[in-house]
Amino acid sequence: MIRQTLAHVDLGALAHNTRAIRALLAAECGAAAPALAGVVKADAYGHGAAEVARTLVAEGAAVLACADVQEGLELRGAGLAAPILVFGAFSLGDFDAIFEARLTPTISSPTAAHRLQEAAARLGVRLPYHLGIDTGMHRLGLRHDNLLQTVPGILAAPNLVLEGVYTHFATADEPAGELFARQRRNFQAANETLAMLGAHGYTRHAANGAALLADSATWYDLVRPGLVMYGVPPDALKDRIAVKPVMSLRSRIAAVKGVRVGESIGYGGRFIARRPTTMAIVPAGYADGLDTRLEGRGFVLVRGQRVPIVGSVSMDMIAIDATGMSVAPGDEVVFTGRQGGDAITWAEMARWVGTIPYELLCRVGARVERVYDPPGL
Ligand SMILES: *Cc1c(COP(=O)(O)O)cnc(C)c1O
Repeated sequence: MIRQTLAHVDLGALAHNTRAIRALLAAECGAAAPALAGVVKADAYGHGAAEVARTLVAEGAAVLACADVQEGLELRGAGLAAPILVFGAFSLGDFDAIFEARLTPTISSPTAAHRLQEAAARLGVRLPYHLGIDTGMHRLGLRHDNLLQTVPGILAAPNLVLEGVYTHFATADEPAGELFARQRRNFQAANETLAMLGAHGYTRHAANGAALLADSATWYDLVRPGLVMYGVPPDALKDRIAVKPVMSLRSRIAAVKGVRVGESIGYGGRFIARRPTTMAIVPAGYADGLDTRLEGRGFVLVRGQRVPIVGSVSMDMIAIDATGMSVAPGDEVVFTGRQGGDAITWAEMARWVGTIPYELLCRVGARVERVYDPPGL
């Protein structure tokens, strides 16, 4: 711990959130509650995939889910033994890794199925896979309205074993919307088509975190929460569950200085002191993940007070206007998290800069050390 800018990752909060989700599922379904897939793509939304995955498995996650084969390999490299579902498309170079690391690929096209069948036959193994169904997101997945053309050939592949069928919602955080309802109907119909084609006994799943909070009809056999597990519930659904933020980004004041009336601060000289100003310099910038649009819009907590970020966000530092406060080098600076009686959430910071909390979490810089509490499992 040499740098002052650190991301504190509260694994206790992560465990609490995971239990809260499981309790919500159990409250409605009892022993028949859907299983949990812990989504740990993008280094577990910036929190650190290995530590997060170990915590989730300890809290009963049946499956880990990641974006691509490389992420799956990293989880295996960290010793995770749970089933790993890969959401994304794979490329030709990924085949060996899928088999060697026992990853579960998503098949989203007949071509992908054909290639996997060839590879599995060559190795003389049977490969479990999930079928991705496009019910209205229109990214990856087999079109829901074309399954009679695409699926029979996939189901007939002798070395491929259908283990799951799933879809993904485009608007789960607006559950009253028409698209959400349409996607649910399309997924239901897709499963009926699959049954007609003789597929059975597979795991069905659809719900990301927002969908699982919005509507228990989306739960099926498995749910796939991400952001809500990291303690950032969607605004519209935050009354449905009590989760605690997992990551808190903190630093310490590096220097304090006076700036005279008319002087500017930082690149571009955009902030000009209108009064004798006390500036505190914090050693965190956009290389640590701070959005440049925080300039003039964002706040940090120092000594329990909200202090505005002024002047440009540099690569490695920012300035805050601490006029009238007694601040000193070494004082704690909170970007997100609690200090005294106040707290800044990732959702609030995202609103300041006009983005989504997902993006901010994923952008916490690679050089920012993740400090785990309790210290990693
Ligand atoms: C990212 C992702 C999830 C988790 O989404 P959240 O909105 O973070 O709950 C679930 N399923 C798929 C396919 C995903 O890509």
